Amino acid sequence: MARSHNFSAGPTAVPLEVLNQAYDEFHDFAGTGMSIMEMSHRSPIFRAIAEQTEADLRELLEVPAHYRVLFVQGGASLQFAQVPMNLAGDNGSVDYLHTGLWSGKAIEAARQYCEVRVVASAQGTGFDRVPAVEDWQLNPKAAYLHYTENETVHGVQFAEPPASEAPLVCDACSSLLSKPIDIARHGLVYAAAQKNMGVAGLTVVIMDPALLDRCHGFTPDILNYACISDAQSMLNTPATFPWYLTGLTLQWIKRSGGLQVLHQRNQTKASLLYETLDGSDGFYRNPVQPAYRSINNVPFRLADQALEAAFLREAEAAGLHGLKGHASVGGIRASLYNAISVEAVAALCEFMGAFARRYG
Ligand SMILES: *Cc1c(COP(=O)(O)O)cnc(C)c1O
Repeated sequence: MARSHNFSAGPTAVPLEVLNQAYDEFHDFAGTGMSIMEMSHRSPIFRAIAEQTEADLRELLEVPAHYRVLFVQGGASLQFAQVPMNLAGDNGSVDYLHTGLWSGKAIEAARQYCEVRVVASAQGTGFDRVPAVEDWQLNPKAAYLHYTENETVHGVQFAEPPASEAPLVCDACSSLLSKPIDIARHGLVYAAAQKNMGVAGLTVVIMDPALLDRCHGFTPDILNYACISDAQSMLNTPATFPWYLTGLTLQWIKRSGGLQVLHQRNQTKASLLYETLDGSDGFYRNPVQPAYRSINNVPFRLADQALEAAFLREAEAAGLHGLKGHASVGGIRASLYNAISVEAVAALCEFMGAFARRYG
């Protein structure tokens, strides 16, 4: 079996151990003669999987015991709307930090529900940083402050959650479970599974129950966090197979040593790649200020942009998949999520060195 080195921004690689386990259990889960996909979400077997997944997520992320964990559908993009629908409150004004493409989309979605104040934007410098805290125009009375922990397209990541009097809402779609995060500092954290913790179809929402009081009014039950929480995320049929796959992935993360160990490995991977970029005498260039460089997504350009098509073609031929940059910024992007091995990144760096020698 030949497995590609997969640097796709998502969906992306799933750990081989997880794929193998799912394969082994595919036709007959635990002697039931049925696939997980064929079972009722209300069956004792699926309920046990759902509960174990939540318990493992709580353990790995050290989620405060009173926080709610919801398993929903619609991706992180639905959260762009669902967050303001539920949390803006009456006459709500909400604060957003604008640090790249994804926070921009979150802002546009929120504008349809409430008054959005952009507290700070890095647009003027091409989204190469998190704007300096001194320049943020925070509204302490905002219904919440939203930030995007890791900008998947621009490769910008927060070093720390922002300090905020308003409840902090975090789009952690491309970084949740790639490193520890202080959940207790947040009112709500959301992430879709297809980056660091499974496959497309499942989205995790972790929230402070103090915010549940706001979820009323025009929000339909199916999108209302309070209703979803009351129904243990089974108001309707949940995405059972992705939920199961996330459960297997969380067990793999635990076997791998947990988030501290994964974080170290992710930092090692990112350092390898940034050193290759910075040591290339300008052949390659990552535009992000070093303090804000992402460990999850590394966008870069070639000094001679006309060579980028050849770079992508030759990389693909060398078994290095998914390196094309997002359409909005072009160039190259390597995503280094949890399932990507150090060896895969080393192979990429070796390829980059050889390519630079050949064309430099
Ligand atoms: C991928 C991503 C999204 C969108 O996720 P979908 O599941 O496709 O809706 C939102 N925010 C960030 C930071 C992302 O990386």
